[in-house]
Amino acid sequence: MKYRSVANIQASELIEMGSTAVKQPLPTVKVEQIDPFLLLHHFGPYAVEPGHDPLDVGPHPHRGFEPVTFLYQGGIRHKDSRGNEGLLEPGDVQWMTAGRGIIHSERASRAFREQGGTMEGIQLWVNLPKAKKMIQPAYQDIKAAQIPVVNLDQQKVRVKVVAGTFDSQSGPARTHTPIQALQLSLLQGGFAELPIPPGHNAFLYTLRGEVQLNENWSYGKETLLEFRQDGEGISLRAVENSEALLLSGMPIGEPVAQWGPYVMNTQTEIMQAMRDYQMGKMGVYTEY
Ligand code: MN
Repeated sequence: MKYRSVANIQASELIEMGSTAVKQPLPTVKVEQIDPFLLLHHFGPYAVEPGHDPLDVGPHPHRGFEPVTFLYQGGIRHKDSRGNEGLLEPGDVQWMTAGRGIIHSERASRAFREQGGTMEGIQLWVNLPKAKKMIQPAYQDIKAAQIPVVNLDQQKVRVKVVAGTFDSQSGPARTHTPIQALQLSLLQGGFAELPIPPGHNAFLYTLRGEVQLNENWSYGKETLLEFRQDGEGISLRAVENSEALLLSGMPIGEPVAQWGPYVMNTQTEIMQAMRDYQMGKMGVYTEY
């Protein structure tokens, strides 16, 4: 396999979000987006005492893209203006299509608040093309058991196929543009060659451990590696037990206008989103 080389190495910046901090390797000053991916937040691992909620994100709107949550540890309760309710447990994935507008809240689950524990996850923003920005919102609550697992190198490398196709397994997430989302767990010494679909922009984010890329340099945790489109895929060898996310997608190639929770093509459309939210056109949502 001809390997894709590294275009950018991004360390995570710490961003204050209310009372907690999240790691943000995308966007950074250097890289605005990896089209179609706009943002990646790694929250936690937070050690949480009973009675506390490290997320505590109250009702807020979104329009024009898809917020996706991969929960690694803990428990999250999702509710939104469309009447969807979800309980995320470790290994679950929530794939939300904000489309023309949705209001939601994300808080620690009741069980987690009562018992405390460790909370950790990834939030990813996937852009929608102009033609899909104003579609009806949708909510996919994907349970860990629905996600196919491909074992490689005598089970030293486990690949969970969330979206797209890998090794003839297809992920359950329905996407609006071609996306491949793979959750990788590697035991020390484990090696795998991972093909990336032609034409896709791609990056790897390491949650923990250390991996050797393409039989060359090694990279530690909380690092985002953006790849060039100069090969068929990458290889990884686990220097330590490691956890990583390999994401790729066909670029949309349209202008991006972003303000807060809205991602549109023009500033006029952003202003429209703000007005529509204020006028209640994204629905009404009261939490309790
Ligand atoms: Mn949100």
